[in-house]
Amino acid sequence: MTREIPYKIYLEENEMPKQWYNVRADMKNKPAPILNPGTGQPVSLEDIMPVFCEELAKQELDETTPYIDIPEEIRDFYKMYRPSPLVRAYCLEKALDTPAKIYYKFEGNNTSGSHKLNSAIAQAYYAKKQGLKGVTTETGAGQWGTALSMACAYFDLDCQVYMVKCSYEQKPFRREVMRTYGAAVTPSPSMNTNIGKKINADFPGTTGSLGCAISEAVEAAVSQEGYRYVLGSVLSQVLLHQTVIGLETKTAMDKYGIKPDIIIGCAGGGSNLGGLISPFVGEKLRGEADYRIIAVEPASCPSLTRGKYAYDFCDTGRVTPLAKMYTLGSNFMPSASHAGGLRYHGMSSIVSQLYADGLIEATSVEQTAVFEAGTMFARTEGILPAPESNHAVRVAIDEALKCKETGEEKTIVFGLTGTGYFDMVAYQKYNDGEMVDYIPSDEDIAKSLAELPNLES
Ligand SMILES: *Cc1c(COP(=O)(O)O)cnc(C)c1O
Repeated sequence: MTREIPYKIYLEENEMPKQWYNVRADMKNKPAPILNPGTGQPVSLEDIMPVFCEELAKQELDETTPYIDIPEEIRDFYKMYRPSPLVRAYCLEKALDTPAKIYYKFEGNNTSGSHKLNSAIAQAYYAKKQGLKGVTTETGAGQWGTALSMACAYFDLDCQVYMVKCSYEQKPFRREVMRTYGAAVTPSPSMNTNIGKKINADFPGTTGSLGCAISEAVEAAVSQEGYRYVLGSVLSQVLLHQTVIGLETKTAMDKYGIKPDIIIGCAGGGSNLGGLISPFVGEKLRGEADYRIIAVEPASCPSLTRGKYAYDFCDTGRVTPLAKMYTLGSNFMPSASHAGGLRYHGMSSIVSQLYADGLIEATSVEQTAVFEAGTMFARTEGILPAPESNHAVRVAIDEALKCKETGEEKTIVFGLTGTGYFDMVAYQKYNDGEMVDYIPSDEDIAKSLAELPNLES
């Protein structure tokens, strides 16, 4: 019996996941181990404990436990803004005149405005449980810093945020939200850290990058007693926490007997995409089902589609361990695009391995086309999406338009990672017809890839 699909599929509180799903447990080809840059050997728990909270370090290295309990304190916090709705985009379908059925999982319904709160609250919880004084981090567009400042306020932890300079200047209101939640916010590269001073000297006038800000935040954490560094994406622990997105999506779809054909997510560091797709990839890996999965990245920062699958540093200052990932080189300085959350040179090692194994596809899209899609979405579905989310919207619309050509009634689900209220400078550029599509040249990419660490030496 098929039930009529409502506009919004809500779950009950008791249908929320009680465990995160660790997709690595089901991967035959595990992501390559993180290496200690000094020794070239896989990192041990002891290696990363000075940088990460203990429990998070364990999650980072755990590639065998399929389900990890979500502590009750975290689930209580989740209940304030989850389960998030899975929405049937009836109005968008109508506007596109497509036979495709489009769904989106909306993660923007909290003050931070994105999915990042799902991991921020987990990381703050484990820091508090360990008795730490505070945490340091970087933020690109500002969503992660906002999410972390909310989480730290909840658990009464100090929060120091290094914010990529171009966002700090473009988004003063994000900064003020963070300060309202009690965080200290510093534009990066700053003159507070040795690495910040060096980056400023080497790249005068740089507007920064996530890679720079990470270096600064790591330095700040290891040089202060009782502090650890936390990161909003890329790491396997973050992807693990973000599986609440995919688990809820799957539960909601199962409730109505819906099986997606295509699953789409934008990919910055890969955590929201990885979290959305994990339960579905798990089924693929176990041979239980098949799905087409598409990672969408900006043409200005195309790590999956034009990068190299190699060991690289996770930051510009080369202070972090080495991860094997699709990378544009840790020195790659993306152009000042408006999707700050997607301006990262590398990609989650889990997502990278899945891509290398052909379990997921990737595509890149240009900024103007992305905002065109976001604007159409806002006008039909009401929600004003974050620039990052618009990347997924673009490809969902493109796939739905292909269905219109072929007459196929495919079911498409995509991650609507957040809202764009703090990104109105970007929308203004688009509305004024002043948006530029930056695409790095092959030479630009080759130049930063030439500086990948040489592991043979
Ligand atoms: C950070 C962010 C992204 C990128 O997420 P990743 O998990 O790093 O790929 C996408 N959308 C929004 C709204 C974000 O804030």
